[in-house]
Amino acid sequence: MKRRQFLTNTAITAVTSATLVSCQSQNKTTVVANSLPEVRWRMVTSWPRSLDTIYGAVEGLCNRVKELSGGKFQITPYAAGEIVPGLEVFDAVQNGTVECGHSAGYYYIGKNSALAFATSLPFGLLPAQQNAWWYYGGGLEAMRRVYADFNIINFPAGSTGAQMGGWFKREIKSASDLKGLKMRIPGLGGEVMAAMGVTVQNIPGGELFLALDRGAIDAAEWVGPYDDEKLGLNKVARYYYYPGWWEPGATLELFVNKTAWEKLPKEYQSMLEVAAKEANSSMLAHYDFVNQQALQRLLAGGTSLNPFPDDILKQAEKIAFEIYQKNAAQNPMFKEIYQSWLEFRKGIIQWNSINELSFANFIHRA
Ligand code: CA
Repeated sequence: MKRRQFLTNTAITAVTSATLVSCQSQNKTTVVANSLPEVRWRMVTSWPRSLDTIYGAVEGLCNRVKELSGGKFQITPYAAGEIVPGLEVFDAVQNGTVECGHSAGYYYIGKNSALAFATSLPFGLLPAQQNAWWYYGGGLEAMRRVYADFNIINFPAGSTGAQMGGWFKREIKSASDLKGLKMRIPGLGGEVMAAMGVTVQNIPGGELFLALDRGAIDAAEWVGPYDDEKLGLNKVARYYYYPGWWEPGATLELFVNKTAWEKLPKEYQSMLEVAAKEANSSMLAHYDFVNQQALQRLLAGGTSLNPFPDDILKQAEKIAFEIYQKNAAQNPMFKEIYQSWLEFRKGIIQWNSINELSFANFIHRA
């Protein structure tokens, strides 16, 4: 056979087999989809509807599952307070009040201090580093073990990007100005602030404006320019600080009740997994896009933008690592995750100081 003719014949054979496979898999897909059950779930969240960044990503996740299943698997999301309060999402999923929820693991460190790793640790990982840890650095496996004790299976399903340091009613010139301040700040960042003399509270995002306005708190952190502006925080506090050293790359998660998860057909499990992964990347892209514009609006509107004084960052970093040591001594699960997290952090900081920091330093200088 001549080479040209051989190639043509091979090409035809290849096209024919591809068509057959495609027809077969199409028929198969149709058959499988028809045999799958109608499933209706409810998803409680810690978020107000007004935040199209976080709550928008949750709606996107639910819509994706609906589309992928041809409308057979439908999840209805609920804002904070509609079924359960914003900080009771974990309990509602654990108890099976609802099948799933969207929240932040670090709201629940009172249940297990290791839940802090699921969201962000002060002086921890940036968004890309955090994702590398979750998907390849053993993070998912480790956190699944922590959540399993609560009958929950978790999925990274959103990232806020590196956050801001929040809103203060008065100027903070040194660490001593923090003493006696009442601030909304959750997680281990809250524990660090408490050690620096701050009276710490955790309040759901939708309630921050009123708490600041009524003087229940003197300072509050949420996420970044776009969300903070939507929540109206710039209208009740003038001083906006950075960086959000307690949340350099916060992950938000989908919590699924394990019993409900195990009843799901494998196809639906896979759809949920894919939709969570999509939310994890799309939320970060959304935040990075809208924050830059919102920051300009805030500055034009009279917000005073300031870096945290150096002594605050230095003290906070020292205290943070003391808290990790203390948690590791008290909680074997925290210790195990912390040791591997520290190792991962060391390596990724070294790599990123070569490939990213050198570039960023040059670009930002210009
Ligand atoms: Ca925050």
